[in-house]
This record gives sequence, C-alpha cells and structure tokens, in this order.
Amino acid sequence: MNLPDPRMIQLVMSLRGGGVTDAKVMGALERTPRHLFVPDRFGDQAYDDRALPIDCGQTISQPLIVALMTQALKLDDRCKVLEIGTGSGYQAAVLARLARRVYTVERYRTLSREAEARFEALRLTNIVTRIGDGTQGWPEQAPFDRIILTASAPQRPDAILEQLKDGGIAVAPVDRDIKQVLVRYVREGDNIVETDLMDVRFVPLVKGEARAL
Ligand code: SAH
Repeated sequence: MNLPDPRMIQLVMSLRGGGVTDAKVMGALERTPRHLFVPDRFGDQAYDDRALPIDCGQTISQPLIVALMTQALKLDDRCKVLEIGTGSGYQAAVLARLARRVYTVERYRTLSREAEARFEALRLTNIVTRIGDGTQGWPEQAPFDRIILTASAPQRPDAILEQLKDGGIAVAPVDRDIKQVLVRYVREGDNIVETDLMDVRFVPLVKGEARAL
C-alpha cells in the first residue's frame, strides 16, 4: 500500500474546511493524482488549493471548486454525465470515479488529446472525449442525468439544459454583470429550478471549435 502523500493530506484538510462533506467526493479526489494533470513546471504546486495554467491559455480548476461542483451534482454509479470543457481532464477524472460514464467536450484538440492520454494512463475507461463546440451539448448522446459546465456561460445555457433528463441536475458558472455565479439547475418536467451557489471565476465558454491547436 502506498503511504498517503502529505501534500494530499493537507489538501483534504483544506477541502473539508471549504465545505466538502461528501465522503465519496473526497475519496474520488484523493484517488485522482492532480500532479498528472498540471504542466511539469507547476508540479510542485499541484496539491495547492488553487487553479493553475494549462496549455492553450486555459486553466485547471481549483480543487475546492472541483469538489464542490461534484458534490452539488449528487452523483451515483448509474449517472450518465456530460461535461463541457475537458481542459486538463481533472474534473472528468473525478466525475468518472463516481458516475457510470462521462462524456466530455473540449474545443482545443491539444487539450482533448492530452486529457485522453491521462485517462488511459489512469485506466479510466468510462470517459468518452470529443473535440468540438460544446455550446450545443452533445445531441447524439443526450439525454444526460447530470451536466457540468467548466467554462462560464454568458447566460442560462438553454441549449445544453435541454439535454438534461427529468429530475436531472446541472451546474454551471454563468456571467452576472462583472462577476460569475455558480448556478445549480434541476429539471422538473418542462421547468428548470435555479439556485445560485457561490461566486466563482472560470475561463469563458467560447463558441465554435478552436481554429489553432
Ligand atoms: N474541467 C477542466 C477545466 C478547464 S477550463 C479541468 O478540470 O481542467 C475550461 C475549458 O473549457 C477550457 O479548456 C476551454 O478550452 C473549454 N471550452 C471553452 N468553451 C468551450 C466550448 N464552447 N466547447 C468546448 N469546450 C470549451
């Protein structure tokens, strides 16, 4: 058995302090080595509770935010999950440990390919990647039990929420004036019940597949 990494113990403590109460979510983060998802030059900061730069001018989210968004989704092992914004693949890897299958879309080819290599190395075989524009969700695979956006939408992402099953939960950062708010959406028939969770900072959701890279 591997000894727990002291940096991981430190991180778990700060997640607890930040409101992560779900033991399954905590376990999923503990089993996901974040140093494999950050550029080598940031390896020494991989277990700090902060967002870090990744390729293509994007960021890997702060562990606390990854944990709180995962917790808000109330996942179980029957869930089919859609993620918009694969980035490093870290959030998808955490989701994959709690859900049946994760479908993740990224507009940068480079990021998607790198994330896919990480999923293979970690033997996370229940993640399906796609390169393209996620603003229209993933119609061929819809509907989903859970949906997560990890890039901030200019307004309620209706086209994506249409792909949420009845009773399903989505979380998304949404622009509100000069700030962004993490919003939880629950579908109740034709209705969407909306709850603001907290202020956040994400890179923007950008329409279209990336032309470079
Ligand atoms: N979940 C990621 C966070 C990455 S940051 C992680 O754990 O590392 C958000 C990502 O969303 C960026 O990689 C960005 O390129 C991507 N993105 C932005 N707009 C998008 C769109 N329309 N479709 C797909 N991906 C998009």
